[in-house]
Amino acid sequence: MLKCPSCGQGKVLSGYLTVKDQCAHCGQDLSHARTDDGPAYFTLLVVVAIVFPMFGLIYSLFTPRPLWVALFMVVLSTALALVLLPRVKGVFIGFQWAKRLHGF
Ligand SMILES: [Zn+2]
Repeated sequence: MLKCPSCGQGKVLSGYLTVKDQCAHCGQDLSHARTDDGPAYFTLLVVVAIVFPMFGLIYSLFTPRPLWVALFMVVLSTALALVLLPRVKGVFIGFQWAKRLHGF
C-alpha cells in the first residue's frame, strides 16, 4: 500500500522509488531500508509469470500478426512493471521493518 510499516498512515516513498528518510506521520526512521535490486528482480519474475503464458493463450485463441502481439506484450509488460515496482519495493521495506533487518 506504500504506507509506513509502523503506523500505516504516512507514505514510504517520495517520488517514484525514493525511500523517505522518516515517516511524516509517526517519525519512524526509514533510512535503514536497503532493498537494492530485490524489488526489480521480483517484479520481473511476476511480470514474466503473467505475460509469458499470455503468448500461448493468444496464439491458441487467435492467429494474430506477430508484430501486434510483440507490441501488445511490450506495452503490457512495461505498464505492469511500472505499476508493480513501487509496490514490491514497499513490500520489501515492510518485510525488513517487520523482521528488524538493517537497523530497524
Ligand atoms: Zn509512520
